[in-house]
Amino acid sequence: MPVTRFAPSPTGLLHLGHAYSALFARHAAGDGHFLLRIEDIDAGRCRPEFEAAIFEDLAWLGLTWEVPVRRQSEHLDDYRAALDRLRALDVLYPCFCTRKEIQAEVARMAGAPQGPDGPLYPGTCRRLDRNERARSIAEGRPYALRLDVGAAVRRTGPLFWHDRGRGRQTATPELLGDVVLARKDAPTSYHLAVTVDDHLQGVTLVTRGLDLFASTHVHRLLQALLGYDPPEYHHHGLVTDKSGQRLAKRTDAKAIRAYRDQGLTPAEVRRLAGWTD
Ligand code: GLU
Repeated sequence: MPVTRFAPSPTGLLHLGHAYSALFARHAAGDGHFLLRIEDIDAGRCRPEFEAAIFEDLAWLGLTWEVPVRRQSEHLDDYRAALDRLRALDVLYPCFCTRKEIQAEVARMAGAPQGPDGPLYPGTCRRLDRNERARSIAEGRPYALRLDVGAAVRRTGPLFWHDRGRGRQTATPELLGDVVLARKDAPTSYHLAVTVDDHLQGVTLVTRGLDLFASTHVHRLLQALLGYDPPEYHHHGLVTDKSGQRLAKRTDAKAIRAYRDQGLTPAEVRRLAGWTD
């Protein structure tokens, strides 16, 4: 029986794109299990009132989900354990760079490598030697942990996954470079938490928007490193506004709540999101 999930971050109000994604995941579960997960590792941006609004808006749309709801901030030990396993494989390194330093380094480099969302991390801290790392840590400089994607890929060899929309995919995690697996302020990151949670929750089919397609390359690599069986994937199209722009949480005008306040019914909002049931 399929196990699917909808995994929003409580950093704003859900909009039509989230409505579509949640309905898509619920539908894909069929007679199986539909889970809701709150991705709240970014303590600076997540708000309890947005979490409350997620429950309310989804219920208003007519969705039900299984309890308990997994809240990522309550499971930091699971991510620490996964990091320990990756550390033992020697595929992590501490990165002391600030955002500004990374930008400056990218600007200095001719032909800095580009990823789907802009320039990739230029690998500055990967090149530090053992003593430089130890010194910076001893000085108390804050650091993130990055995946040494080259070393990781050499360890796993070729990897594949199946996408219901696009068929068999060859994983090319190098596309995203040395991603962060533990932030300076949290013992995890989006990529690590999603991979660990989908495994621990027994998710068999990951459904989400095409905007996260590139991330799946990294998640497949992490699954292989951590010894997890890969789920199946189905990346769906994105809801766009009239000008063809994808909706973001910032565009509150498209918030489910705004339509609700205007007096639209749940069925009307489901249709506006492009869902035909
Ligand atoms: N939390 C992510 C978001 O809000 C989605 C995670 C996922 O579906 O993998 O976009």
